[in-house]
Amino acid sequence: MDGTGWAFPATRAASLERWREFLPRARSYAAFRNRVEPGHPHVSRLSPAIRSRLINTEECIAGLLASFPFASVEKLVQELLWRDYWKGWLELRPDAWANYLAELERVRRTASAEVMGRATEVMAGRGGVGVMDRFARELTETGYLHNHARMWWAGYWCHVERLPWVLGADFFYRHLLDADPASNTLGWRWVAGLQTRGKAYLPRRSNLERYCAPEWLRDPAGMEKLGDDRVQAAPVPWEPELSRVLWVSLPESPRDVPGRWGLWIHGEDLSPELSGLRSLRPAVALTVLDEAIVTKHGLSRLRMQAILRGLEDARGRSSAQYGCPVEHRAAPDGIASMLARVGRERRLDGWVAMRPAVGPLGDAIDEIERVLGDAGLAVQWCRRSWDERWWPLARSGFFPFWEKAERALRRGMNDDPAQGLLLDATAAAVPF
Ligand SMILES: Cc1cc2nc3c(=O)[nH]c(=O)nc-3n(C[C@H](O)[C@H](O)[C@H](O)COP(=O)(O)OP(=O)(O)OC[C@H]3O[C@@H](n4cnc5c(N)ncnc54)[C@H](O)[C@@H]3O)c2cc1C
Repeated sequence: MDGTGWAFPATRAASLERWREFLPRARSYAAFRNRVEPGHPHVSRLSPAIRSRLINTEECIAGLLASFPFASVEKLVQELLWRDYWKGWLELRPDAWANYLAELERVRRTASAEVMGRATEVMAGRGGVGVMDRFARELTETGYLHNHARMWWAGYWCHVERLPWVLGADFFYRHLLDADPASNTLGWRWVAGLQTRGKAYLPRRSNLERYCAPEWLRDPAGMEKLGDDRVQAAPVPWEPELSRVLWVSLPESPRDVPGRWGLWIHGEDLSPELSGLRSLRPAVALTVLDEAIVTKHGLSRLRMQAILRGLEDARGRSSAQYGCPVEHRAAPDGIASMLARVGRERRLDGWVAMRPAVGPLGDAIDEIERVLGDAGLAVQWCRRSWDERWWPLARSGFFPFWEKAERALRRGMNDDPAQGLLLDATAAAVPF
């Protein structure tokens, strides 16, 4: 539990606290990170906070490199950058998200009652494989699964139960507190064998026995289904060709904003005061809960509570930073109409916001631009310099991306920040 009674930090202060606690274990991360044990002591459990940017990968990496020799924390730096890699990969190939949603819709419409019934049983933790049922319950009860458990469970779903991968991805998306359109969709695609053609992830009994806590394997029910010789990859599902879009750069702070502007703060980035938006002087700052998105994606109660808590925390920090009125509105008719309404009420010239990445909020961008345009309001999208630097590099596999990142990180350590990473103001926020 964090100081506020939550198992996963839902405020920036609690996230920083968790990170400070975890830091001394960063050097043993490579050796122990694959172990799945009660309390998950070998991993940070910061993903819900990182996903909504209560704390940023940039500041975590800066803190690691300031505290330890590169080689001793390389694995953790690499894992943190997996998140940025997946974000960039999806931003360059938004079809992967659109195809996932379309396929989910198609499967829900056309799958047989037998498939849907079995999927429901497995998700409810009644599939009959003791350890997998335990993971299903852990996910719905806590909103979290260890990375290795996610791999085992998704592999079991796709290759043992042979259920449609999109239904499993949707189950994770509804319940994970860190649910992210990039890491989740692409993680599932990888397990199913779509992401790297011909390579799927198969759960193996021997691997579970090596890395999973013995008490979680005590129930032998169904273990024979996970036998090393028994699990075979399911056929790779068909999907339309993915095209790659051109990267469109955005400024880290608004270019020229005379007049009255509002700052829209959303769950994709809950620390605007630690970004290029820190020097903005908004007339109002606003958080919005889009109820249509919540309903469409069926988000769990725990997830909703975490989102609301994160937004509340961001409002508190924004109030201190910007000294302007900070509001929250529920938006039954969607974000676009709420931004237009508050814009009119506050007599704004327009809104400034971080551009949401590909995902449910990203899907709302066209409508936001249209509705605000019709209401005579402008919108200026910004992007963090960190994302602007790393995300466009996710053109192919992770390792070419990592090679570039590693070179830059090592250069950054040789006292020449201009050549290395841009580890500036946000890094200073964490007193290591
Ligand atoms: C099928 C599947 C679905 C997943 N869905 C999500 C998701 O919706 N959201 C999400 O944040 N992660 C997802 N992951 C990645 C990973 O499982 C989680 O990021 C990790 O388990 C979070 O726990 P932690 O914070 O304790 O990680 P730590 O091991 O402490 O790692 C620190 C941080 O690095 C990043 N990270 C670590 N491993 C990965 C990885 N493999 N991919 C991307 N980022 C990583 C995360 O931001 C994480 O918080 C998924 C993985 C799989 C296999």
